Amino acid sequence: MVNIANWLHRRASICGDRPALFLGREMVADYAGFHARGASVAGWLVANGIAPGDRIALAMRNCPDYLCALYGIWYAGAAAVPMNAKLHAREMAWIADDSGARVVFATPDLAPALQQQGCDGEVIVLPGDGEDHVVFAAAPLPGPRDKSPGDLAWLFYTSGTTGTPKGVMITHRMLSAMALSYFADVDVVHAEDCAHYAAPMSHGAGLYNLMHVLVGAHHVCPPSGGFDPGEILDLAAHFGSVHMFAAPTMVQRLTRHAKAYDEPGLGLRSIVYGGGPMYHADIVEAVDHFGPVFIQIYGQGECPMCITALPRAMVADRTHDDWQARLASVGRAQSVVQVAIGDGAGGVAASGTAGEIMVRGDAVMPGYWRNEEASTRALVNGWLMTGDVGVMDAQGFVTLRDRSKDMIIAGGTNIYPREVEEALMTHEAVQEAAVVGAPDPEWGEIVVAFVVCAPGHDMDEMAFDAHCLDRIARFKRPKRYVHRHELPKNNYGKVLKTELRRTL
Ligand code: AMP
Repeated sequence: MVNIANWLHRRASICGDRPALFLGREMVADYAGFHARGASVAGWLVANGIAPGDRIALAMRNCPDYLCALYGIWYAGAAAVPMNAKLHAREMAWIADDSGARVVFATPDLAPALQQQGCDGEVIVLPGDGEDHVVFAAAPLPGPRDKSPGDLAWLFYTSGTTGTPKGVMITHRMLSAMALSYFADVDVVHAEDCAHYAAPMSHGAGLYNLMHVLVGAHHVCPPSGGFDPGEILDLAAHFGSVHMFAAPTMVQRLTRHAKAYDEPGLGLRSIVYGGGPMYHADIVEAVDHFGPVFIQIYGQGECPMCITALPRAMVADRTHDDWQARLASVGRAQSVVQVAIGDGAGGVAASGTAGEIMVRGDAVMPGYWRNEEASTRALVNGWLMTGDVGVMDAQGFVTLRDRSKDMIIAGGTNIYPREVEEALMTHEAVQEAAVVGAPDPEWGEIVVAFVVCAPGHDMDEMAFDAHCLDRIARFKRPKRYVHRHELPKNNYGKVLKTELRRTL
């Protein structure tokens, strides 16, 4: 049994009457219904000529039928191509065509633009919220088709902060490894728990459905279809034991909202954060307010959610001597992978030395979709080269410095923007900071900080400079400040430093 969709099939046969899918507080399907909808999607796909291994794209906002479509695709033995709902129709059409998707399931809000744009596959509009539809009325496939562990399950297009997105091939084996590692290193999940989908289901939040299907937990899609702090707190209080994946900016906004409305966060059991740097001040404030509910993971599409983890006790336990250093790290290698720091010459660096983070194991991709050249660059001697620079200490804790391409070299010295950003972020007038290098005839590069001010505050470059001088080496402090009302971000909320550099 290797088709991961068997996990749903099995759950439905063991406890078909357990509540499964919710839109807000309203249940739209139990596990038997969830399975039946998935099996009908599969029946419809097979009746329409879809063969094992074919790609089916998803242009869907977060909704319960996202999961029915996903499992239907897997039941049929096909591979899903989930696309971020915030992409432009042109970008979605590009991804759909690059993947060779024969069908694109789209929610009504996204379908018209995609149909107008045009793509090679047939666009099928699905209601999204458990309503009747011809696809869900098709004769069901009795169960998931057999798959091999190395077969493609999910084609994940990288967020493309640099250049054209690449399709990461995520296999059935990688997803079962991810699920195993989650239970071992990240969190336990019980049948009474809820997965709340506030972050895009096309990314980590969607991948995390698997652990909740495995134990027959509830899946709650917020009616807003996305991130709304008030809605999260309301649904958490209603359901009582909510798990969610959140990007660092979501954690910051959730904390600020909860503090402003004096909401303690009842029912929030686990918030797994990752996907980008979490600033020290933000996670300390979040734990102060919500308590020990946070767990950090570090991953990338090429090794989804599965490189390292920092468990909740280490995030929250301030009595430990190494608490600060551990909190600044991304934790230790997850159980199903090995992590090492490259020495730049094909070997492994000594502990404490900075270098490119490398990872290998069952959660690592076999390569990029139809892109031999990029695959060869990323997979070297059996290691995935992550493109992230970091150090590992003697206990195996990994601290990220930056993406290798974001590192600034000023006067021959390496400066990691993250460190400068951390320092700036502790100033009360700074809401967000992004530090990049600008070309300079004398130094090679100089440090430039783009700053978004906190409400009620103005730029005060002298004060920022004094603040940095108190915290980091002189040569690291910004030589120039640029005020911004907001920072350019991609659809996953990551700051587009390439765009900022272009303005200098
Ligand atoms: P993506 O493939 O779009 O998920 O982006 C993955 C990249 O996000 C990684 O290579 C890291 O640069 C960054 N990232 C992921 N998790 C973390 C984390 N916990 N802390 C800092 N950066 C992270």
